[in-house]
Amino acid sequence: MIHSVNPYNNEIIKSYQEISDIELQNTLERMQLEFENWKTQPFSFRSSLMKKAAEVLRKKKEEYSKLMTLEMGKPIAQSRAEIDKCAWVCDYYADNAEKFLADEIVQTDATKSFVTYQPLGVVLAVMPWNFPFWQVFRFAAPTLMAGNVGILKHASNVSGCSIAIEEVFSEAGFPEFVFKSVILSSSRVKDLISNPIVQAVSLTGSVPAGKSVASVAGSHIKKTVLELGGSDPYVVLEDADLSEAVQTCVNSRLINGGQSCIAAKRFIAVKEVYDKFTEMYVDFMKQKKMGDPFDESNDIGPQASVKLRDELHEQVLRSFNAGSKILLGGFIPDMKGAFYPPTVLSDVKPGMAAFDEELFGPVAAIIKAEDEDDAIRLANQTVFGLGAAVFTKDLKRGEKIAKEKLNAGSCFVNQFVRSDPRLPFGGIKESGYGRELSVFGIREFVNIKTVSIK
Ligand code: NAP
Repeated sequence: MIHSVNPYNNEIIKSYQEISDIELQNTLERMQLEFENWKTQPFSFRSSLMKKAAEVLRKKKEEYSKLMTLEMGKPIAQSRAEIDKCAWVCDYYADNAEKFLADEIVQTDATKSFVTYQPLGVVLAVMPWNFPFWQVFRFAAPTLMAGNVGILKHASNVSGCSIAIEEVFSEAGFPEFVFKSVILSSSRVKDLISNPIVQAVSLTGSVPAGKSVASVAGSHIKKTVLELGGSDPYVVLEDADLSEAVQTCVNSRLINGGQSCIAAKRFIAVKEVYDKFTEMYVDFMKQKKMGDPFDESNDIGPQASVKLRDELHEQVLRSFNAGSKILLGGFIPDMKGAFYPPTVLSDVKPGMAAFDEELFGPVAAIIKAEDEDDAIRLANQTVFGLGAAVFTKDLKRGEKIAKEKLNAGSCFVNQFVRSDPRLPFGGIKESGYGRELSVFGIREFVNIKTVSIK
């Protein structure tokens, strides 16, 4: 059985029976059959269903928001915003998929040559719990619009969301086997990837999960897109608007209880502003309230589970023992749920857990740099490369740093890194490869086919 546990009170919400091997095989075979039909449907048909999926999401926003908050503890206002964003990505690909995948004529010696984008078949999505709806919809909207069919193995602690997402597509009128959620433990993902019906895999999750999935898929020569962890650096230069920088840095660190791959994690301030930045950071962080995620006055709820909370605390302790200072938080509160308070570590240096590892929770690591070059060197001194930001009033300077110097998939100036359906999203190094969203996302799971006619 797979249990969904409410992290606010550690009580089991519901237990789920895993799908049997026979049922799974049957589902895959039905999906394979459905693919032969779905891929022949015109874009206008697929698009009308995807628009309906957006309508279902908007209509049932409150129900789905509550489910997310219940299963993983995200503040309810952030759950509502997540559902709105899912509806947006459905509309976006409903409106743009045909244009993104239109045939492209290429002049050659032949009578006619062109590039065409053809769907691959059954695509597996292995997804995390932190944005239970968004991660799935940003996979599903482009993948289904391209003519593929999708099978979802969601994180075990959000099985309720997994089932609800399948319902969105079914209520929108999608044929039954275009999108299926299956409840199974991660130990069975290997067999699923190896199944000859599965053509490709998209995984969003941790680096260990990414390595495992990519190696199994690689041994079967199946395409993967990996969206993995991050330790995003935010560089604060001496000419930054400190008040704006502090607010943005704190808010980015705390979004989703700090459990976001693109949450800012390391704050690198040059020495001229380090002390002031640190003082203002702690003051602003102190104002953030932790508590019941259904109470809209709270900024953060519990962490997703006690196990993850305890792992986070252990990283804080290791950083402290290695010489960083704890300026705020840094303890396990006397509360029933998986709570961890907003925490600020200063004097963080390479070699400490807070610098080298991903801290998936409301813990900020503040780092001192000598100057711009040193700050950029420290920012890039990581195995990750998902997002990065720089704060400066000189927009030309900021643009040059974002474009040429910071090594990450998304580099922002004077704002926090966020995903947007119109812009590609993904990482380099151990943050993964491939891109989601925009025109790039929809071209990941297609055969980019050359046709040439003499
Ligand atoms: P996780 O433990 O890696 O789990 C992600 C998914 O992979 C779950 O469905 C999980 O199933 C499955 N899984 C775990 N180990 C596996 C394995 N060895 N083989 C196959 N599947 C496996 O990650 P998480 O704790 O849910 O999510 C947090 C991580 O995701 C963080 O590192 C975060 O940075 C990253 N993330 C990245 C992005 C991005 O876009 N780059 C976005 C969000 C999150 P079970 O739940 O059944 O174990």
